[in-house]
Amino acid sequence: MPPATAINNLINELSHLELITDPVQIAKLSLDYYYFSPILEPKLKEKRADLVLRPQTEAEVIQIAKACVKYKIPLTVRGAGTGNYGQCVPLAGGVVLDTTKMNRIINLAKGIATVEPGVKMAAFDKKAAKIGWELRMAPSTYRTATIGGFIGGGSGGMGSINYGVLRERGNVQGLRIVTLEDEPQIIELRGDEVQQVNHAYGTNGIITELEMPLAPSYPWAEIIVTFDDFMQAANFGQALGNSDGIIKKLISIHAWPIPTYFIPLKDYLPVNKSVALLMVSEYDLEALSDLVKEYSGDITYRKTQKEASKGTSLLEFTWNHTTLHARSTDPRLTYLQTLYLTLERVEHFYNHFPNEVMIHLEFFKFAGKVIPGGLPLLSFTSEARLDEIIDYHEQQGASISNPHTYILEDGGSKVIDPLQLAFKERVDPYGLLNPQKMRGWDEKT
Ligand SMILES: Cc1cc2nc3c(=O)[nH]c(=O)nc-3n(C[C@H](O)[C@H](O)[C@H](O)COP(=O)(O)OP(=O)(O)OC[C@H]3O[C@@H](n4cnc5c(N)ncnc54)[C@H](O)[C@@H]3O)c2cc1C
Repeated sequence: MPPATAINNLINELSHLELITDPVQIAKLSLDYYYFSPILEPKLKEKRADLVLRPQTEAEVIQIAKACVKYKIPLTVRGAGTGNYGQCVPLAGGVVLDTTKMNRIINLAKGIATVEPGVKMAAFDKKAAKIGWELRMAPSTYRTATIGGFIGGGSGGMGSINYGVLRERGNVQGLRIVTLEDEPQIIELRGDEVQQVNHAYGTNGIITELEMPLAPSYPWAEIIVTFDDFMQAANFGQALGNSDGIIKKLISIHAWPIPTYFIPLKDYLPVNKSVALLMVSEYDLEALSDLVKEYSGDITYRKTQKEASKGTSLLEFTWNHTTLHARSTDPRLTYLQTLYLTLERVEHFYNHFPNEVMIHLEFFKFAGKVIPGGLPLLSFTSEARLDEIIDYHEQQGASISNPHTYILEDGGSKVIDPLQLAFKERVDPYGLLNPQKMRGWDEKT
């Protein structure tokens, strides 16, 4: 933890900026949705920044970076704070830099936009829709999450069925970052260079600008299809994913009893049925109905984009919103993030853990192929049992991005990314950015 004198010096030096020292506000702005994990909950709940700074411009970010280096104070960047694994929780105290007032759209053209990091995704799409475009992908926290936070800590969401996950080449075209050197620099990264910062939890640069590729926007209808049998629903999801003639944005499949947690949708979710929650172009609904017939499904809910915009979007029951709804009914529930890759594997796990793991699939493109991934739910009993379940998935060839760790490398890739580490050595020589999150750095120092 930084000494009080260093914090006081920093506060004096930056008192002309928006600065928050009220403990209630600090507590709120130090935490995220880490408590979805019973492993992270006790580890993170007491963590607090010493102060929060809310810059409005890149020039203010540079002033903050310079002062943090001068007094050797840790700095953790925060967008909307909707991450699930404590990505923006300041483990070593210091400054939380809140980007939500850096929310200008700098340029918006057909196919491409340049934005500040604090721009909220749904607000951006409202503007982009006026010229017929939208973000290629967005998480189910679309209404609240920032674009910078999605790149810093997210992975994919609606739209990933067409464009893959954020990490796929081309899904972020360019970035500007501010470094934490004695004299902070602005560095522009383009093309593959952006991967040094993409999904690095803000450990190696403060993103101040992003160039994001866009997708053509369609009027997205929202549809629920129910099935007698879970594998029928899963096979339907794969078939829809493979149907190039049907334009879609979301294919989310839920094994019974997960639908019981979707209380606002209960009128459309008959007992004992597994369900598909979909977003499909309004122009392709006839073709969709034919596919539903082929897989013996029943459409119980269909809204045009205009009708759907008046209530809660089905998006907010998918991806990790499924976990949110389930936990409102039963707070012992937690989740995994699983890359099943094949439906054979999905069926295997469905039968292997009949009363312990409830399968929730999200279809998306991965290296050019539509595959099933998912965020299955399970009731937490002990850390040892959770580890056994994860190990079993991995032994069977599924890959788990562990949502029960805040360490960058231990969550997804399981290996130290030499590019991200080398970039951190260059831009954050004192290790002040989001300390204790990058294992590669901590093992080296
Ligand atoms: C109910 C629920 C559903 C979710 N669904 C999804 C989903 O569908 N897909 C998905 O990918 N995620 C999902 N998430 C996780 C999260 O909401 C998203 O990843 C979201 O995009 C994060 O944005 P944020 O603005 O809240 O970022 P934050 O949580 O504030 O930050 C995320 C990370 O990025 C870093 N960061 C933020 N801004 C910057 C910056 N300017 N420069 C450098 N680093 C920065 C932070 O330090 C932190 O490490 C979900 C979370 C919840 C609670």
